[in-house]
Amino acid sequence: MIRKIFIVICALILITTLQYYAFVKAPPIEVELTNQQINQIYENLLKYTGLSRSMLPKLIIIKNDAIINAYQDSSNNVIAIYSGMIKFSANKDEISAVLAHEIAHFMLDHSALNPTMNSDYQTILEGNADKFGVYLMMRAGYDTCKARDLWIKLRNSNGDYEYNSDHPNYSYRIWQFEFPMCGG
Ligand SMILES: [Zn+2]
Repeated sequence: MIRKIFIVICALILITTLQYYAFVKAPPIEVELTNQQINQIYENLLKYTGLSRSMLPKLIIIKNDAIINAYQDSSNNVIAIYSGMIKFSANKDEISAVLAHEIAHFMLDHSALNPTMNSDYQTILEGNADKFGVYLMMRAGYDTCKARDLWIKLRNSNGDYEYNSDHPNYSYRIWQFEFPMCGG
């Protein structure tokens, strides 16, 4: 009898422990960043562009939770981020990855290039913006490993695609951020 009770207790402890690791120890959902915090991250990154303030684009935050995206529009001198992207990003590092990527497109003057160019060119441009963006993140003191985490999250939530008219697929972008210090 005591032996049976002992086995039941052990089983309960085991189940509780497994549940703890499966559910409780999931990554914490952090508080959504305020517009002021987003602007501060943006300002932190701009310091490392080497351009004077008057040449730099203005950041606009567009309220649309359904759109998980950001873009740069150099003809109007703006970088825009949707509230959907802000909600999707769990922390300052992930937001900095998005903003730094768009600043990099602006710095590298990508919109001046031919928009009809083929997907190989687009892959190179996106890759360059990702890499220069990571440099800005690093200089501004953000965790560059979180750039990879953000793309992993996007792939997990959307599924990967084989081909997209103007972006390399998520796996390609995750592969670019496989820095040794980020571990497996
Ligand atoms: Zn891009």
